[in-house]
Amino acid sequence: VVALGTPEHSVVTTCAYCGVGCSFKAEMKGDRLVRMVPHKDGKANEGHSCVKGRFAFGYATHRDRITRPMIRARITDPWREVSWEQAVSHAASELRRIQAEYGPDAIGGITSSRCTNEETFLVQKMIRGAFGNNNVDTCARVCHSPTGYGLKTTLGTSAGTQDFASVADSDVILVIGANPTDGHPVFASRMKRRLREGARLIVADPRRIDLVRTPHVQADHHLQLLPGTNVALVNAMAHVVVTEGLVAEDYVRARCDLAEFESWARFIAQERNSPEAAEPVTGVPAQAVREAARLYATGGAAAIYYGLGVTEHSQGSTTVMAMANLAMATGNIGRPGAGVNPLRGQNNVQGACDMGSFPHEFSGYRHVSDDATREMFEAIWGVPLSAEPGLRIPNMLDEAVGGRFKGLFVQGEDIAQSDPDTKHVTAGLAAMECVIVQDLFLNETAKYAHVFLPGSSFLEKDGTFTNAERRINRVRRVMAPLGGLADWEGVMALSNALGFPMAYRHPGEVMDEIAQLTPTFAGVSYARLEEVGSLQWPCNEDAPLGTPMMHVDRFVRGKGRFMITEFVPTDERTGVNFPLILTTGRILSQYNVGAQTRRTENSRWHAEDVLEIHPFDAELRGIREGELVSLESRSGDIALRARISERMQPGVVYTTFHHASTGANVITTDYSDWATNCPEYKVTAVQVRRTNRP
Ligand code: SF4
Repeated sequence: VVALGTPEHSVVTTCAYCGVGCSFKAEMKGDRLVRMVPHKDGKANEGHSCVKGRFAFGYATHRDRITRPMIRARITDPWREVSWEQAVSHAASELRRIQAEYGPDAIGGITSSRCTNEETFLVQKMIRGAFGNNNVDTCARVCHSPTGYGLKTTLGTSAGTQDFASVADSDVILVIGANPTDGHPVFASRMKRRLREGARLIVADPRRIDLVRTPHVQADHHLQLLPGTNVALVNAMAHVVVTEGLVAEDYVRARCDLAEFESWARFIAQERNSPEAAEPVTGVPAQAVREAARLYATGGAAAIYYGLGVTEHSQGSTTVMAMANLAMATGNIGRPGAGVNPLRGQNNVQGACDMGSFPHEFSGYRHVSDDATREMFEAIWGVPLSAEPGLRIPNMLDEAVGGRFKGLFVQGEDIAQSDPDTKHVTAGLAAMECVIVQDLFLNETAKYAHVFLPGSSFLEKDGTFTNAERRINRVRRVMAPLGGLADWEGVMALSNALGFPMAYRHPGEVMDEIAQLTPTFAGVSYARLEEVGSLQWPCNEDAPLGTPMMHVDRFVRGKGRFMITEFVPTDERTGVNFPLILTTGRILSQYNVGAQTRRTENSRWHAEDVLEIHPFDAELRGIREGELVSLESRSGDIALRARISERMQPGVVYTTFHHASTGANVITTDYSDWATNCPEYKVTAVQVRRTNRP
């Protein structure tokens, strides 16, 4: 890929970074990509882009790309390049050997939110059909699995309720546990446009993020809570709604389960849920919570946008349900400008979840124990399928450490860097006998692999991504796969070697099968996508043009369900040895663990992760700006430079996790969400000291 030259033609495709799903024209000179230009017709971005989508595509042809399959007997052996046939045949025979020796459930796989819907669908199909179990999971386990649990339980399906465009109809915007200007910049611009027009803004975040005060935008309220106290804060807002008579009674009566509402209202009205009772827990003045709650309930159409600052907690699922309670109680779901919306991190995390990447669900969020659904899949796939939910990623690793789980297929994820408690993850990987990694680069996980299959970037394949507003966008191939096969073709090769035949000639045929088996995708095909550009699911007979807004006349589950959301403090406690709380996040120019953006020019904007610390805490420790400090938790310690910043509140420090050398997950805890095992990345008790360590 070169950055210069006059383009001769262009191909419309979708950005492979965040869940906004911006549409781009890949401008080509011959078979070389000259530049990426935001596409005016893209419904998610309307011609806008950020520095990642626009400039950070050079990783696709970076010299670090591995383009030949490789195998080795032990992880201490050197890699040996082999043909695709040899690699998949070796992988298949190892997986079958393990099953014969340790049992059919001793293997599993992980799908990728970086890959297309079609590829993800094929991976879970291979695992269910060829591995013969439901041991499939995805990186949503470590990010938005609480969204899946919380929204499905309360509303009936796991997805944002609004489309991006409808922020233009919002009168009040509540941003909680998200930093849109860094994480979802193009949508943040849309949000800021509405705020400049006069919409009111409430930000709930431990850190003073840019949205709190930017040129022409200032939050009405910044509820600067302590990490780990989201449930107490949202409950306190709901307490104000209930006790001050701000419930949308007609809406609740018509749309929600009344018995459950009444029992929730009794719970939430208790004094222990009041803003005054919450103040010592959250650190947010009660009066500010009261004013914010009144604004949310009475200020017109109110939209909630949230991110990993909500989900990556021991009570992540509870907070999602608490927000759904608040929105239902005020009538703020299913009408223009109102809703509850997860800002999805990865480009296709919504799609990976939709496609059946969870161990308990087929595509379209249908439980594996549902006989009618399972029989439908069995009829089309021609194999018996297990009705038992499989293992989640942390359970696979636990079982591996215990000697009972021995084989893993990982597509496009670097769990050794991205998952919590790195020591435990690597111990699990090291205990396995066959780890198969399909990726662009030899990442940290590949250090524990026995088979490496070359992955393909988004530029090397056809397919679709689904963004955070459920919009299915086409991804189009602009160059041949450097490794010879696109990811979907590599999965087919492995499945065929395992004796579970797949013979798709194009990802469009995979989408046809997805549509056949998934009611919410029944009206989706490549022909329709060519015709209309993009479609938002549900798209079927009832909604042939797709569904921009969900839950309009009724909730997907029928009646909206209020859930009791008791606040339970995390077990991660500060104390004499670890007096500060560490929380983590992202920065605009970089992306997640940095495997892609670090291999582009974007690195010049963020060459290293730093530790943000409040001046009070810095002074107490004699720490000066730019000095190297050690950051120590109960799990381990790392070193990084200090940035003294009043964005932080005293007692809370912050870092990003874009550089493998920082190793932020060495120090995170192994606490996780009670319902989904999503790790509690956002709360770690730490100590910070000056250090001379290089
Ligand atoms: Fe890509 Fe997200 Fe930036 Fe859009 S906002 S260009 S999807 S990284």
